[in-house]
Parts: sequence; C-alpha cells; structure tokens
Amino acid sequence: MRCGWLLCFLLLVVRPVHAGGERQVFAATLYPLAAWLAQVVDDDVEVVVVLPAGANPHTFEPLPAQVRLLQRASLLVRVGSGLDDWVEKLTGLGPTPPALMTFSDHVPLLPLREKGGRDPHFWLDPLLVRDHAVPALVGALERIAPVDAASYRLRAERWREELSHLDARLRTKLAPVQGRAYVAVHSAWRYFANRYGLVEAATIEPVPGRELSAKEMTKLVREIRRSQARAVVVEPYVFSKTARQIAHETGIPLVTIDPFGSGELRGGYVRLLEEIARAFLEALR
Ligand SMILES: [Zn+2]
Repeated sequence: MRCGWLLCFLLLVVRPVHAGGERQVFAATLYPLAAWLAQVVDDDVEVVVVLPAGANPHTFEPLPAQVRLLQRASLLVRVGSGLDDWVEKLTGLGPTPPALMTFSDHVPLLPLREKGGRDPHFWLDPLLVRDHAVPALVGALERIAPVDAASYRLRAERWREELSHLDARLRTKLAPVQGRAYVAVHSAWRYFANRYGLVEAATIEPVPGRELSAKEMTKLVREIRRSQARAVVVEPYVFSKTARQIAHETGIPLVTIDPFGSGELRGGYVRLLEEIARAFLEALR
C-alpha cells in the first residue's frame, strides 16, 4: 500500500477522546458538502471540513490534523467516486468511527469519458444537490439523531427552495453566454456546463499531471482553435504547464476558477456557485 508508513504514523498519534457533554461534530470531506450540512443542522452542532482550504482533493494525503478532526465527528459525509477516497484510511482509526455517508451512492453521476468510472464533481449542479444530495443528507442526519428529524426536514425544505432560486438566478445570469465554449485543464465543470448550456470544448489533462506528447498537443491546439473557446479554465491548486502552453499558443486567456470554495459555511454554497457563474460569464462574454 502506497502510504503504509503514513498510516502507522497516524495510528501513533490517535488518542482516545472525550465522552459526551461536548458539542456534536459533523464532518464533510469538502467545503461545499460542509456548507450543505451547515444549512440543515442548527447552531449547537459543529460542522468541520476535513480537506484543508487550498488542497487538491484528487491528490490529498491526510495528516494527523485530519485524524483528530474525524475522531470528534459522529457523522462524515463525502463525495465518493474516487475523489475523496483518502478519507477511508482515516475513518477506522479512532475508537468510535463516524457514520459514513457517500453521496455517489445517492446521486446519478455522469460517466467519465476518458478512463471509465463516474464523474464526481456533481456538487456544481444545484439541482442535483436539491433533488438527490439534500434528501440523502437528511436521511443520514435522521439516522444519527432521530430526535432532530423534524427540524432537519424543515430546514432542508427551506434550503431546497433556496437552491431552486439559486438555479433560476444562475440561468438568467448565464443566458448571454449560452452555447459558448471553454477549455478545461481538468474536467471539473461538466455538471455546471450541462445545467447552464456551456460547452466544454476540450480537456487538457484527461489524466492529471501527465504531459501531452508533441503530437497530442498539436491535435489539441487544432481542436481548441476550431471550437472557438474563449477561456482556458484552470483551478487554483492545480498548476498545469500544458494549460499555460495552450493558452500561449492559441491566444485564449487563462482563467482561474475554484470549484471547491472556502470560508464561512452557512450561505457558502450559494456564494460559491454565484462566484463560479460570475467567473464563467466574465470569461465567455
Ligand atoms: Zn476534480
């Protein structure tokens, strides 16, 4: 196993923790998921994000800080489908592992074009969140704390309405750039693009970090020129030399958009999606 030494190290730092009397802790691997949790639970629950802000979930290696976070948690929600599998190494380490809920078991995911499997970036479609993720989340919360079920359902209902409004706003906002194309360094945006009528003309790194051959590069540049893409979308924590090269060769500007977000949890998901829509509008206009 690739990080056996790390696991050993983590096991050494695991300590038994508190019994009762403390605030209930619910954990999510990624910021957007934690933001949904914060929307549905009330203030006496602490919601924590396992992935540190600015880290790349595709390549993340957990540290003792993440183990300690999870030891306090009674519930852990994650995306699944290959994105945050690293968290599996951590859930069994404490004396009382958190209940685990995996969204990819509940959300209809798009097939991946290149390498088989399913595309995990579903949180960028607010309607998939409204119709599949939120009900799954409420189900998990009800199992953890059945006494609070009524309050979860009520909050979730309001939250789902808010998501409908968000979807309507994004649709209006992005109407002027419907049908316009972008190039993605990493294909994180297909759910968002499908929902709001944007076109992903090409993906630069179907396998993250792998450099393209000269032949592949020429072919890709030709494809991108033909697509009339207006932006090469990169992510803040992924440095891609190839993306830079392609932007340089085609004259298409590089635009950085963050699919994960960070900051205040409550209201954070709406802010994240509004920000992504604003960035795409500006890039494709
Ligand atoms: Zn990704």
